[in-house]
Amino acid sequence: METLQGILEFFNSPLFKLMTRMFILYLFILWFSTVIWTYTDAKKRGGAALTWSAFTLVFPFIGVLVYLILRPKETIEEAEMNSLEYEFKRSLLEDEVKYCPACGKRIEEDFQICPYCLKKLKKKCTSCGRLLKLDWHVCPYCRQEQ
Ligand SMILES: [Zn+2]
Ligand SMILES: [Zn+2]
Repeated sequence: METLQGILEFFNSPLFKLMTRMFILYLFILWFSTVIWTYTDAKKRGGAALTWSAFTLVFPFIGVLVYLILRPKETIEEAEMNSLEYEFKRSLLEDEVKYCPACGKRIEEDFQICPYCLKKLKKKCTSCGRLLKLDWHVCPYCRQEQ
């Protein structure tokens, strides 16, 4: 009986009351920080920031879990970066595909002559032998005038 008495005394003690108050305060702080976090995160992702933060306010902790499941996968910045990267890769690919100015068939960057219509496409530098455009008057690699 004495231990039970001790436990009951502990629950009635000012220390316990202080601890519960601290715990409740801690929960409140945690709750409000999830609301603020949800707001900023949803804003970054271009989601409905106000709706989501209100949702986490009405449903403490569960709201933020639901948000984490349903939030947009990438932030606006990430989405922009990804589309930029995609554009860049696509432009690289398009650059690699060249067409003969005479017959329009596909040719490679280092072709000297079109294999289909025999149009001269590039000339070789008389000094270093690298491929030059037909209208270049000087080799940009070795400065040899053409
Ligand atoms: Zn051609
Ligand atoms: Zn050269």
